[in-house]
Amino acid sequence: MESYDVIVIGAGMVGAAIAYGLAGQEKRVLVLDGSDTDYRAAKANFGLVWVQGKGYGFPPYQRLSRLASAQWPGFADQLTHETGMALDYERRGGLHFCLGEDEWNQRDARMRAWHAQAPDEPPCTEMLDRAHLESLLPGAALGPEVAGACLGGLDGHVNPLKLLAALHKGLMLRGATLLSGQAATRIEPLAGGGFAVTAGGRRHESARIVIAAGLGSGDLGRMVGLDVPLRPQRGQVLVTERLAPLLPLPASGVRQTAEGTVMIGLTQEEVGYDLSTTASAAARMSTKALRVLPDLARARLVRHWSCLRIMTPDGCPVYAESPDHPGAFITLCHSGVTLASFHAGSLATSLGGAALGDGLDSFHHRRFDVSTIA
Ligand SMILES: Cc1cc2nc3c(=O)[nH]c(=O)nc-3n(C[C@H](O)[C@H](O)[C@H](O)COP(=O)(O)OP(=O)(O)OC[C@H]3O[C@@H](n4cnc5c(N)ncnc54)[C@H](O)[C@@H]3O)c2cc1C
Repeated sequence: MESYDVIVIGAGMVGAAIAYGLAGQEKRVLVLDGSDTDYRAAKANFGLVWVQGKGYGFPPYQRLSRLASAQWPGFADQLTHETGMALDYERRGGLHFCLGEDEWNQRDARMRAWHAQAPDEPPCTEMLDRAHLESLLPGAALGPEVAGACLGGLDGHVNPLKLLAALHKGLMLRGATLLSGQAATRIEPLAGGGFAVTAGGRRHESARIVIAAGLGSGDLGRMVGLDVPLRPQRGQVLVTERLAPLLPLPASGVRQTAEGTVMIGLTQEEVGYDLSTTASAAARMSTKALRVLPDLARARLVRHWSCLRIMTPDGCPVYAESPDHPGAFITLCHSGVTLASFHAGSLATSLGGAALGDGLDSFHHRRFDVSTIA
C-alpha cells in the first residue's frame, strides 16, 4: 500500500484541476475516478467561462468568478505549454441577448444591482443597443426582436472536453497517479491522523483528502462529517452541424465552437436523476435561438444531450474542511469550467498547505444550516 500527501476523489472538472495544481507543488497525489456510468458534468457542459451575473445576491461568488476569469489566460497558457494540447480558449467578451425593450431594461437593472453588490470591483459589463451590437457582430443577421445585449468583458469560452483531457494529461505529467474505474467506496479517518480510502478493493492512505466527486460527493462527505446538501439539476443542450462563422462571441444559451458547430441551450430542470432528453425542451431552446439568430433555421441539428448540474441550495460553490476530521476537504460547484483556473491555482496552493485559504469562509456549507442562520 502506497501512501500519498493527498488523495483527490473524482477526476471531473473540479478534481482534475485541483489535482493538477497540487501535483505542480511536488505533492504525492493520487486521483481516484469513477466510471463512465457516473454522472459526469465535465463531459457534457456548455464550455462558458462566465462572469456576468455570477453570484447575484452572494458577492463572494461574484468576486471569485472575477478572480477565476483573471487567472484563466495564464492557466490556459501553462496547461497548453505543458501538455501540448490546444484548449480553444478565448476571452474576448460574452453576450447576454435581450429580446425586446423590457428584457433589455430588466437586464440593465439586474446588472446595475449586481455591480452594486461588489462596489469595490470595477464595472465589467456594458449594455449595448441593437446598433452597437450589430457593429460587434458583422456576420450575424439578428432577429427583429433583438433589442441589444449585455456585453461581459470578462467572459469567454473553451472546449470543455479538451480542457478535461489536458488536465488529465497535465496532472500525470506532473507526477500524479490517476486511477480510473476506481470509485472510492469507503473513507476511514485514521487514529494518528490521515485517512484510508478504499477503492476497487484496494486501500490507499494519505495525509489529506479532497472530495471532488460531483454528484457522488454527498455520500463520501458524510463519511468524514461533511454533510453538504446537494441536488442534480438537468440541463439539455442541442448542437448543430458545422457552420461558417456566424457568432464571433459566445452568448449565454448560444455559442459557436472553434470547429463551427453551434451549441444551443440550456434548460434548468428539477427532475431528479432523470437524464432523458425531451422534444419539448428541444423545441423551446431552438425557438429561442431562432429569435436571436434566424439563419440557424437552415442548420441541421446533429446532437441533443442532457446532463446533471451539481447544485447546492443557493447555487453557489461549497469549499469546506471537516471540523471533525481536519485534513478532509470537500469542493462542489456548478461552474467548474469557469472556476478551473482558481481550482488549479490559488485553491490548490492553499490545499497544498493543508488549509482552505483566506476568504473562503463564506463558502462553507454551514450557511445552509437553519440553526446557524437563525
Ligand atoms: C448542461 C450543463 C452545462 C454546463 N455548462 C457550464 C458552463 O458553460 N460553464 C461552467 O463553468 N460550468 C458549466 N457546467 C458545470 C460544470 O460542468 C460542472 O461544474 C463541473 O463539471 C463539475 O465538476 P465536478 O468535478 O464537481 O463534477 P463532474 O465533472 O461531474 O465529475 C465528477 C467525477 O467524480 C467521479 N466520481 C463520482 N463518484 C466517485 C467516487 N465514489 N469515487 C471516485 N470518483 C467518483 C465521476 O466519475 C466523475 O469523473 C455545466 C453543467 C451542465 C450539466
